[in-house]
Amino acid sequence: MRLKSCKMLAVPVIILFAITVGCADFGQRETAGAGYAAQTASSTATGGSKTAPAVPEPVSAVVSTATLAATGDLLMHDPILTNNYDEQTGSYDFSGIFTYIKPYVQKYDFAVANLEVTLAGNDRIPYRGYPCFNCPDEIVDAAKDAGFDMLLTANNHSNDSGLNGILRTAAVLAQKNMGYTGTRHSEQEKPYRIQNVNGINIGMMNYTYESRRAGDKRYLNVMLEQRAIPLVNSFSYGDLDSFYDEVKTRINQMKEEGADALVLFIHWGDEYKLTPNNTQKKIARKMCELGIDVIIGGHPHVIQPLEIIKSVDGRHTTVCLYSTGNAVSNQRIYRASIKTGHTEDGILFIVTFSKYRDGRVEVTGLDALPTWVHLYKQNGREAFQIVPLDVSGDLKNKFGLQYSEDGFENAMKSYQRTMAIVKDGLKEFEKLAA
Ligand SMILES: [Zn+2]
Repeated sequence: MRLKSCKMLAVPVIILFAITVGCADFGQRETAGAGYAAQTASSTATGGSKTAPAVPEPVSAVVSTATLAATGDLLMHDPILTNNYDEQTGSYDFSGIFTYIKPYVQKYDFAVANLEVTLAGNDRIPYRGYPCFNCPDEIVDAAKDAGFDMLLTANNHSNDSGLNGILRTAAVLAQKNMGYTGTRHSEQEKPYRIQNVNGINIGMMNYTYESRRAGDKRYLNVMLEQRAIPLVNSFSYGDLDSFYDEVKTRINQMKEEGADALVLFIHWGDEYKLTPNNTQKKIARKMCELGIDVIIGGHPHVIQPLEIIKSVDGRHTTVCLYSTGNAVSNQRIYRASIKTGHTEDGILFIVTFSKYRDGRVEVTGLDALPTWVHLYKQNGREAFQIVPLDVSGDLKNKFGLQYSEDGFENAMKSYQRTMAIVKDGLKEFEKLAA
């Protein structure tokens, strides 16, 4: 199978070769191809007759696959709130944001986005955007309708509405039957989530950096109340050893509960930087040593590269997308801290897991669908829409790009920016898979 087209087209064509990614103790460390070939050869040698009983399935036969799609921040700035408010009904409807990305999100078995706001209601504090985000609950309905199965809740804005915001956010998500991880409503809730997707148990954790830690005080952007500390998965850049110990404990718990693959969603890095800093790289390497299979990062508001990391002993491989960028925001090219347009860009990053007959689970496919936030005027209002940059067809007249003068040109620029950042990692994975 030729793989070259999948990256440049940015159409989610999955690379179907196995590479030896997966927890080190999941079984033998051979590629699926080699395992199948070896098994087939020995069966043929001992069989001989055309009427012999059916050859047993090789241990490396794939018994199921599961796709995990992840996108970046739902960063609900003031103009996104006001432009999606219906004065007649007094309610919000954010579904228009997802109109075009929806069919793509729905293609995948399990889809995740980062909820970079609180859902604190508007009894005590108003709905508001930056710097202390408090978003109407309707964002959850829109994300769910678009096909997202889980929202990440541990980030530097988790505490923007205080303890009540943390509690209510989890309560609303639970009540609306939306999966979430990162923060929780009570200490009894698990600080991770194991999701069975097509028979593959994907263990997932979400952590955020703390903006400051001083003694027993921890700060996201706002200081956490003592009662809130155990409700948020956070770590201090100044005490990474404690973070690593905690991750180790969680990994063991998840494995005991049957996790086949391990995914870490992590909020980290420097805003508006197009490359990961040394601390991100250090943490990623450590996570590889600890057995994490996939790292998906966020927070920089721009996409950062995809890296395929090998453990020191060469036995474990970790896929790390350092930052997923903004799924939706009002960080436009002319408003953002960098004027390159990267803050308008997002990505739907797709990981395929395969389970073999012997129980091993491996990452067997990666793909990237670049997305772009299209902002244009319609009926006197500003529309914010996530555009899937599926260049396989006639992009020019699709996805509402025709509604703004430079829509198509700007979308193509966005596509090129994103592919320039992630193409090397995709190539590297392809090389390993070949
Ligand atoms: Zn952030």
